[in-house]
This record gives sequence, structure tokens and C-alpha cells, in this order.
Amino acid sequence: QPISILSLRSFMILILSCITININFGFLGTPSFQTLSLDGHLSFDENYHAARDFGNRHQFLPLAVLHPKSVSDIATTIMHVWQMGLGSELTVAARGHGHSLQGQAQAHRGVVINMESFSGLEKQMRVHTGKSPYVDAYGGELWINILQETLKYGLAPKSWTDYLHLTVGGTLSNAGISGQAFRHGPQISNVHQLEVVTGKGEVLNCSEEQNADLFHGVLGGLGQFGIITRARISLEPAPKMVKWIRVLYSDFSTFTRDQEHLISAENTFDYIEGFVIINRTGLLNNWRSSFNPQDPVQARQFESDGRKLFCLELAKHFNPDEIDTTNKEIENLLSQLGYISSTLFLSEVSYIEFLDRVHVSEVKLRSKGLWEVPHPWLNLLIPRSKIHDFAKEVFGNILTDTSNGPILIYPVHKSKWDNRTSAVLPEGDVFYLVAFLTSAVPSSTGTDGLEHILTQNKRILDFCEAAHLGVKQYLPHYTTQKEWRAHFGPRWQVFMQRKTAYDPLAILAPGQKIFQKAI
Ligand code: FAD
Repeated sequence: QPISILSLRSFMILILSCITININFGFLGTPSFQTLSLDGHLSFDENYHAARDFGNRHQFLPLAVLHPKSVSDIATTIMHVWQMGLGSELTVAARGHGHSLQGQAQAHRGVVINMESFSGLEKQMRVHTGKSPYVDAYGGELWINILQETLKYGLAPKSWTDYLHLTVGGTLSNAGISGQAFRHGPQISNVHQLEVVTGKGEVLNCSEEQNADLFHGVLGGLGQFGIITRARISLEPAPKMVKWIRVLYSDFSTFTRDQEHLISAENTFDYIEGFVIINRTGLLNNWRSSFNPQDPVQARQFESDGRKLFCLELAKHFNPDEIDTTNKEIENLLSQLGYISSTLFLSEVSYIEFLDRVHVSEVKLRSKGLWEVPHPWLNLLIPRSKIHDFAKEVFGNILTDTSNGPILIYPVHKSKWDNRTSAVLPEGDVFYLVAFLTSAVPSSTGTDGLEHILTQNKRILDFCEAAHLGVKQYLPHYTTQKEWRAHFGPRWQVFMQRKTAYDPLAILAPGQKIFQKAI
């Protein structure tokens, strides 16, 4: 008897899965994926890679992964899903470098487009020199490759992220913020033109002048309106060298006063960031001897004698023939600051070493098996007017140490952001990025475990809400539309209108969990 029950059940499951596969693959009435004419190919097996990301907490297996060889492959696939209409639950997610934190680049039982495996001619980068230089780069290109290519012409993009092994499409779908953003704005403020495949499979060029609504929508648009297949990125002459500086503060007010002063000062530094160190010992003694500027992880692990310290991190670009002037400028700027004078550390590195600094940590962490662990990161944008309230409670009460990973904190000017893009910002002319970049020890139930860190994150978010700090999440993650509406606030209407215009069936980037495809 058990055998026949089992066989009956297996038979039912087989029938049900055939029906599901038929619906999903459109065998009923619409042409199947197998009939699509592609330069690249679709893979239906062994797609576990596409179900993983840097966050290491969410795994949704897709039905298929597209390995495109041309933009037309991407357009054909999306057009196919679009033509299936609402009869199919299939969705499509572009996967850049998969460095999302909560499954944003995944598509549960959908199609993942592996942007990195693109190998067609359209991948070629084109650098345009001249008065206003720029590079045309493929949307799945890594920023490190763009840096390496543009440096051959003595040029480089102006605005960065702290880590360069991320794709153009991945960071432009968020914002792309680092220590240059106070001057140049985020990466989304440094793009002239995009080529986008919309949720209907149309390939459109867009810029300030052409299809401007799509252009602004896609920038910071969390992948909701189209897949970026090409971006025209603004360049500037690249310096050869960088003076890389770190100084410490024990007083938060002096630290933020200096940060805010520097982001507005004349002839200031080229990069301004900072981080928090809570409850470590021996920091001041070890500062000079153990600081290796090529190893920010090590630098961040300095001990702080059980105290709270704030580290201001600065960089000034220079070419070897300008060294004297640069030294004078740095001296002058530092003389205006109130850091603990015995904690000045300064070193010189090449521009590429400076920009690619986090990769050095990645290599080390990977070798110790500590890179592919859960990363319950929390990134917040906090109005300047509330940063002291935030710091008092979060650094004073909620967090007892910074052993689980660095906490970055630095201010930027809102005027450097374009308010027509989809990026969501807090009120006020200056706001802080505060990034809790924590790593969890797998299966630990202690203070370095996932549960503990998630509880801490929740306490931080609950506090922000209860104290009405007007905080916005960066790299936001919500699971209900109510929360998304609150996140976008008055900008929700425009976001919805853009969705209706460019991806009306809600096919794209389902992992963001903003819209659900209605079937
Ligand atoms: P993915 O994770 O692959 O995709 C992210 C989202 O964008 C998904 O929804 C995906 O569907 C969509 N998407 C991907 N490609 C495209 C495309 N071509 N067109 C349209 N949509 C697309 N961010 C900062 O701003 N500043 C930092 O300093 C910074 N540092 C980081 C350091 C590390 C170590 C890590 C892991 C992340 C960091 N980030 C930083 C966050 C990072 O910018 C985002 O997570 C970004 O989305 C990752 O890019 P990706 O190529 O891995 O994108």
C-alpha cells in the first residue's frame, strides 16, 4: 500500500510540475524559450550561483539564467516574458556582481540575466578624451575594469564606491556613494547617458535631453524600470598619487564639526570619510606602529582603550611634481582641525591602490574563509540636524563595541544630488551616510551571530522611527508595499507612474519586493 500511495503522490507531483512548467515557460500558446534566437544561451540547470549574494541570507533559485552575448539577447528575453503577459508568473532580474544584501538581484522561479558573463562586442569600453572626457561602458562592467582602462588615457571617473568589484548597473541602480560624493555627488550624478532595456523589451537611449523621465527614473531606480546595458560616465584627469590620512577624535561634536567644515572648505581634500571605533583597548599606543594604510581592515581593528573614538579619513590627490604645494595645502587644512594631535597618520599610495583598497581586505578575508559569511548590513542616511541624537543613542547605548565590522560615517551635500532621480534622501541640505558593515559568524549564537546583529539593527531602526529622526535607508530593504510607500514618501506617485510606463507587468527586479507581478 505505501508504495502505491507514494506512486500516486509522485504522479500528481509530476502532473502538477508539468502544468507549472508549462505556465512558466509559456508552452501553452506562447513560444517557448527554446525557440528564442539568441547569440548567447539560457541555462536551466545548476543555477545555484544566481541564487546567492554577498548578504548570504536569501537564496531564491531561478528557473533559468541567461548568459547574454548581445544587448539584443537581453531585449529578446524580456520581450518574450512581456509577450507572455499576465498568464505567466515569470520575472527577470539583472545580476551584476551579485553584491546585494537581501536577494535584490535574484528572481525566484524567474530568469536571472548574468550581466557579467556578457562577452559580445558591445562590451568594449570606449574612452573619449578631450575637454569633457567620458567613457562608454557596458552595464555589467566592473568599476575596477573601468578604472584600469581609463587610467591608460590618464583619466578616471570622478565618483566611486569604497569597493570597485561592483558593476556599473548595480551601483547606478542604487546611487554609488563614497568619500568623493561631497564634491562630485554620487555616481548617479556623474552619468550623461544610458542605454536601457525596459520591461517591455524595448532598447532605449536616454539622457537629460532624450527620454529624460526614463533616464532619471533608472538612476537610483533599484532596477525597476529597465536594465542598464550601457552608461556614459564622466571622467576627469587622474592623479598619479594620493596622500592618505587618518586622524582620531574622542569627541563626536568636534569630529562632525571638522567633517562638515572640510566638505565645504576651499581647496579641500579629495576624499572625506570617517568611521567609529567603540570599546577596544590599546588603540592610541598602537596607532602608528600597527597602522598599515593598505589594510583598512587592520586599521579598523585598532583598539580604543575601552573608549569611543572617531576616525576621520582623508585623501588628497597629487602628482609627483606638485608635492611641495600639496604638502602645504594639507598642512594648512590639518591646522584647522581639532583631532588628537598625536594621532596623525599619513602615507602615500598610488591612486589605484587607494581606490582599490577594500579589495586587499577581500583577498585576506577570503583566504581565511571570512568573506562568504552572512552580512546583515544596515545603511542609513541621516539628516545633519539629527546626527547627534542618533550618535548619542546608537553609539552610546545600543552598540557596545564595533567588533562585528566597521561603521562608516560621513556627511555629503544634498545639492550634489539630482532630485529628479529615483534616489530617496532625507530632509536638509547636508546628510550623513552611516553604514554598519557587519559580518556574522555562521551558526554563532553569541554577540557575533546573525540573530544578535539583526536584533541590534532592529533596535537602531526602531529608535530612528520612535525618535522621528527622518532617516532613510540606503540600499533599502522592505517586504511590504506599505513600507515602500513610507520609504518613498511624496515620491511614491512618480515611482509608480514610472513603473506603469516602463515595466507595467512588474517583470523586472522582483527581488527588491516593491511590486509583485499580478497573475
Ligand atoms: P547586484 O547585487 O548584482 O544588483 C543590485 C540590484 O541592481 C538588483 O536589484 C539588480 O537586479 C539590479 N541590477 C544589477 N545590474 C543591473 C543593470 N545592469 N541594470 C539595472 N539593474 C541592475 N555602495 C555604495 O554606494 N558605496 C560603497 O562604498 C559601497 N561599498 C560596498 C562594498 C561592498 C564590499 C559591497 C558588497 C557593497 C558595497 N556597496 C556600496 C553596495 C553596492 O553598491 C550595491 O550592493 C550594488 O548594488 C552592488 O552592485 P552589483 O553589481 O553587485 O549589483
